Amino acid sequence: MTDDSRRPPKFPLALDRVARGSARPADRTLRPQRLVQSAVTDAQRLRPPTGHGLDSDAVRRRMVERLRTDGLTSEPVLAALARVPRHCFVDSGLVAQAYEDTSLPIGLGQTISKPSVVGRMLALLQQRAEAVGRRDLGRVLEIGTGCGYQAALLGELGRSVVSIERLQALHELARERLAPLRRHNLRLVYGDGRLGHAPQAPYDSIIAAAGGEDLPPAWLDQLAVGGRLVAPMAGGPRGGQVLLVVDRDEQGLREQRHEAVHFVPLKSGTD
Ligand code: SAH
Repeated sequence: MTDDSRRPPKFPLALDRVARGSARPADRTLRPQRLVQSAVTDAQRLRPPTGHGLDSDAVRRRMVERLRTDGLTSEPVLAALARVPRHCFVDSGLVAQAYEDTSLPIGLGQTISKPSVVGRMLALLQQRAEAVGRRDLGRVLEIGTGCGYQAALLGELGRSVVSIERLQALHELARERLAPLRRHNLRLVYGDGRLGHAPQAPYDSIIAAAGGEDLPPAWLDQLAVGGRLVAPMAGGPRGGQVLLVVDRDEQGLREQRHEAVHFVPLKSGTD
């Protein structure tokens, strides 16, 4: 009979013995803990790097599925929300919350809107486009670029987008954050959005991300026939805001008031 204890035990057998706690510490040939550890390390190496874990489509898809469950049904809007990386538009310290349904600070007292509210407003625009036989949002005007997230979504859904911001620092930040997306149909303008942007009017879709006491006349002047405007506006319950929808047809303007909302104030002039 050979003396097995002098030979290195065979690998599977040894692991089995270790698992049962029978390995001898004196056995220098086999270091099962290290092997198991290496196996774990190797297995981890096989996984693709994921950064914060937020750059993966899966995180965004989960957000989109939640929005769908909560009643957002517009497929083009859901698809755009699944494509645009929201975490790239918030400060690094807030990245972990980027795919929660929450508004987040973007500096200078402003906020990026909740995905559900952004989705709701975009769906109202998309619904109108489909009702008048347009495949997309057409020519779009956004008032309140903020960090540029909604502008990126509009770039996915519209043919051309003009987005206006009155705070220069945010206008420049949005430019930086949008650059990697290479959306060539997006034009960022620094100015007072209450005046709209006459050079590219009329617009098929107008959307405001800030709410005022009244509807600036320029917005209605620049709304195309067959177009829709969606904006938060004073006049909601308990002195709050309401989501206002205005459609322009051959016959004139038609207004609908939807749910109560809460947006930052629409201000006049630039900083
Ligand atoms: N859509 C933005 C939301 C930004 S919050 C996003 O996705 O991040 C609303 C923005 O409207 C703020 O940045 C604020 O500065 C801007 N705003 C308020 N009044 C404005 C005006 N008159 N013209 C242009 N921008 C305005």
